[in-house]
Amino acid sequence: MKVAVGRSDPSSSSARRRCDGRLRGLDMTAGIVWPDGKRFAFTVFDDTDHATVDQVSSVYSFLSDCGMRTTKSVWPLRGEAAPRIGGSTCEDKEYLRWLLDLEGQGFEIALHNVAPSTSLREDVIRGLDRFKELFGHDPACFANHAGCDENIYWGADRFSGLNRTLYRSYLRLRKRRIAVTGRGHVEGDPHFWGDLCKARIKYVRNFVFRGINTLEKCRFMPYIDPQRPLVNYWFASSDGRDVDAFNDCISEGAQDLLEEQGGLCIMYTHFALGFKEDGQVKPRFRELMNRLSRKNGWFAPVHQVLDHMLSAKGVHILTPKERTRLERQWMADRVLHQYHWWWCVN
Ligand SMILES: [Zn+2]
Repeated sequence: MKVAVGRSDPSSSSARRRCDGRLRGLDMTAGIVWPDGKRFAFTVFDDTDHATVDQVSSVYSFLSDCGMRTTKSVWPLRGEAAPRIGGSTCEDKEYLRWLLDLEGQGFEIALHNVAPSTSLREDVIRGLDRFKELFGHDPACFANHAGCDENIYWGADRFSGLNRTLYRSYLRLRKRRIAVTGRGHVEGDPHFWGDLCKARIKYVRNFVFRGINTLEKCRFMPYIDPQRPLVNYWFASSDGRDVDAFNDCISEGAQDLLEEQGGLCIMYTHFALGFKEDGQVKPRFRELMNRLSRKNGWFAPVHQVLDHMLSAKGVHILTPKERTRLERQWMADRVLHQYHWWWCVN
C-alpha cells in the first residue's frame, strides 16, 4: 500500500520511521484522542500487597511532585484469617489518614478485595459499605487479591473452552495445584458477591501483559465480556509487578514508543516491592519517571482514563474470537517468560 508522507522523501529512513509510527499509532490507540492535546496516557494501578505508610508514602510524594495522579488500592477491613500476603488495612488509623490525604490530592482509591484474607458474602457487604463510609463513594476500580476464595472470575474461570483446559494442564506441568481459585461469581456459594460487583463497581482488571502500551495488547478495553456478566467493564494492564519489572517496562525506548504510538499504559504494580532503598525512592525509577513526566502525556487515575475511553469509543462487547486471542496471548506471555504465578498479576 502506498502511503503519502508529505514533503518528506519517502525513501529516507527517518521518513519511513515517522510514517510507520503514524500507522502503528492508528492501530495501537484504536482511534483514541487524549484530552487537552496530550499525546499519550500513562497511569498506575498499585496493588496494596505489603504496603504500609513507611513503605509507600515516599513513592506517592514523588509521584505527586511529578504531577502524576494514579490509583492506589486498599483493603477496608483487617479480615478474619491470617493472610497469605498482607499489609496495612484501613483499620490502621495512621494509614487511613494518609489514604484520605492522598485522595484529597487527586489520587484514586480502589479496591483489592475487602480484606487480605478470604471473605464471605456478609464480610464483602460490610467491606463495601465501610469503603463507601470512609471515602464517600463506591470503588470505581477493582482487582482480585491472589489466594482469596471470593475472587471473581479468577483462576481457571478466567478462561474459556480449550483455553481453560490448557491453563489447567500448564499449572499441572509446573506442579502447581489449582490453588488460584475464586467463587465470587458462583451464585449460591457463601463467597458469592457478583451481584454486588455488578451493582457497585464499574471496572475490573483482568489480564496483565508485558509491554508499555497496554492498548497494543487489548485495544478494545474497557470491554464487556458476555460470558462474565457480573463484571460491568474489564480492563487490561501492563506488567510492572516490582521495581525491576516497572523500570524495564518504562525504559527510555519504551517511553518514546508509547509517545510515538499515542498509546496508553495502565501499569499494574506493587509499590511496596522494592521501590524504596535506604529511605529514598530508588534512583533509576526516579530518573525514568521524571523523564516520562516531562513528556506531553496525560497522567490521570485509572478510572478517569477508562471513563474517557468509554465516552470516546463507546461500549465494546467482546467477540468469541477476541476472547480466544486475548486468553492465548496472555498464556503465551506466561509460558515464554516463566512468570511467577502467585502474585495478583496472575
Ligand atoms: Zn494483591
